[in-house]
Order: sequence, then C-alpha cells, then structure tokens
Amino acid sequence: MGANKLVIILLDGFRWDYWTRDEPAMKAFEIIKSTGVCARGLEPVFPVLSYPNWVTIGTGVYVDKHGFIGNYMVDPSKEKHERLFHLRQKDTQQLAHWWEGSPEPIWTTATKQGKRVFTRLWSRADVPFDGILPEEAMGYEDAPGVDAIENTLGIGIEKLLEGFDLVMLYGEHIDNVGHAHGPDSVEIKTAVREVDAALHKFFRQLEELNLSETVNVIVVSDHGMTGTGKDTGTTYVSLGDYITEDDVDVVLESGTNLSITPSPGKLEEVYAKLQQIEGAFVWKRDEIPDELNFKSSRYALEIYVLAKPGYFIRGLQSQKKQIPFRELHPDHMYCEGVHGYTPELPDQKGIFVACGPDFKQNCIVPEIRMVDLYQVFAKVMGITPLAHDGCWDNVSGIFATNNNNYSSPTECV
Ligand SMILES: [Zn+2]
Repeated sequence: MGANKLVIILLDGFRWDYWTRDEPAMKAFEIIKSTGVCARGLEPVFPVLSYPNWVTIGTGVYVDKHGFIGNYMVDPSKEKHERLFHLRQKDTQQLAHWWEGSPEPIWTTATKQGKRVFTRLWSRADVPFDGILPEEAMGYEDAPGVDAIENTLGIGIEKLLEGFDLVMLYGEHIDNVGHAHGPDSVEIKTAVREVDAALHKFFRQLEELNLSETVNVIVVSDHGMTGTGKDTGTTYVSLGDYITEDDVDVVLESGTNLSITPSPGKLEEVYAKLQQIEGAFVWKRDEIPDELNFKSSRYALEIYVLAKPGYFIRGLQSQKKQIPFRELHPDHMYCEGVHGYTPELPDQKGIFVACGPDFKQNCIVPEIRMVDLYQVFAKVMGITPLAHDGCWDNVSGIFATNNNNYSSPTECV
C-alpha cells in the first residue's frame, strides 16, 4: 500500500503549451519540471468539452462507458424536472440518476478503501455514488478569477495538515480567460503567470510545512483552446441557416459540438439539411466513428454535428429549443477561443505535470491520454483500481523506481 498523499489540481482549459511558451517567467512549473515529470501533452477524450473529460479523469473510461456526452444533456425517459443536465444549473447536476450505468469515480473508490478524501469545486464529487460521499465534498460551481484558485490551494494545504489522503481541487480561471480573450492574448499570458504564482505559493507552503516529502502533486487540465476570434480566419456558420426550430425537439450546445433530436418523423429531413453545413461532420448516432468511443453513450442523441477546425457553428436563435441559448448580439458576434474540435488537434490538448515522492525527477515523457490518469491516481494512493480504459505502458515510466536524482531530462517511455 502506498502511504503517500495525493493532490490533484485540475486547471480548466490550460493548454499544454501555455507554460512552456513562457518558461523563463514560470516559477512553479520550473519547480515541477526539475523535481518531477512533464508530459508533452494530454489528449482529451471526445468530445473535447469539460464535463465529458471531468468524468473521464474520475473514472478512466471513455464517454461511451461513463455516458456524460457534454455540459448539457437530456434524458427523455425521466420525469420532467429530472430531464435536463445543465452546466449553469447546479440543481440539475446534483441529481444522482446521471450516474446510472457510470463506473464508480476514484473519490468513491478511495473512500471505500479507507482513504480520507477532500474535494473542492470538483464536479459531481458532491453527488452520492452508491450512496457514498467523500468525507468532505464540494461540487462544481462558478468560482472565477485567480483569487479563487489561490483560496482553493490554501484550503488544500489546510486539508493536508488535517490528514486527508486525497485532495482534489479545481480552478476555472484559465478557461474563462481563454474563451474571453483567446489563447494567444496578453490576457491569457497574464492569467497563466498569475496561476503559476498561486501554485508557487502552494509549493512553498508544502516545503515550509515539511509536506513535500510525503505529498504528490498532479496538475492536469481537461482540454486546450483554439483561437477563433475575428482575426483568426475562422468561418462562422449559423445552424438557423439550415434548420428551423420546428425541425427539432432540442439542440444541445453550439460552437463545436451539437447534439440534436429532430422533431418526430423528421430524422431524414433534418439530417439531409444539416449535411449542407459547410465545415462540419454530420452523423446519425450509428454513424459516429467507433474510434471516438462515444456513440453508445446512453445520453447520445439522434444526430451529432462536429465542427471541423477553422469553423464555428452558431446555435439556433430559439430560446425554446437551443440549450444553452445565446442571443446573437452585434457586440459578441465572435468567440475568441473555443475547444471541442477533434482531440488530436494540438490546440485541444491539455497538460499533465506531476511531482512528489512517487514520481521521477527531471523527466519529460511523451503525450499521455485522459483515460490514462485514473490508473496513476490509483497507483499513487495504493488503492485497487476498477476496470478502466487506460494503458499502463503509457504511464509506467513516470514513477520513481528509486530516490536518485536525474541530472538531465530523461525520455522515460
Ligand atoms: Zn471551456
């Protein structure tokens, strides 16, 4: 049994190269680089949206097994008040039934195996699984700004001092700035430096409190970000130019990934109309490529539209059918940054960096995949993992086999 502790810091929308391209200014990331492991990237699962990747981080399986297809979902088989899952409506996310058929998340497994688990702003950790909650669980809610991250990291330190074994912390600041200003903006550069400073303070505290030798820290993100502002050459198309609100029961999400239920009897007609969209893959559920590990999700709708890189699909101008609904306004015709394109696209990739007693030092490894993280968490905590889609060979090289220091960056895997 591994006795060391684990802190997982999930930084939403932190693209793999955000810190490497500003390396001379980085403090915390330089500490991690010299005392830990850095992957060249982290490939998200499809679709490259937050919720699907959050649930994969917690379970180690693809969307077809955990079910969470996006930040918004519908389940027509449920009573009306239980039908919608909505990123901005906390009560909808707190319904336990969305877990049905999902594998057990790591915080539940760790709790069952005797670990003391603390979560802060971590999605669905506050929703019982198997009737079990972590010892202290706070779920996802809006917490913008770098101050929220600094505060969360400070609470993480307190919880380590209180003896928690697994501390799971989430921060949304980088994703917000990436969407609002784009991945190449001066604002994102500033935000990354601010988050680095907050992490640096966290590492200094670990050091001062003599926690560094027993605490492992993993910093990951759920996805990257692609610039789609006015000057990027992105082509904006509007769903409303192809279908009307009468054609559909519901359209979930917009921009890069859209899930659509056509009105009864209109599948073929709507499908044919959507095929005309420039810059999009349009699939009936059965046509979604197998390699995306998606289509057998119990929440997948009848039609799926995926924007090709270089395109952005505006949603229907229908308050009734489009979830979420965004009114097209002359002041915000463009979105500066988005994610959701195919996971192989370099811009869509996230970060994985880790340091602590269980990890190699000064070690750079090739890209790993979102489904590979779960087994890393289980190994560090010394708990028995459940079935998952990770591949041990992809991560076995990141663990310290002894306490030697490595004098130069090493290719591990
Ligand atoms: Zn985002």
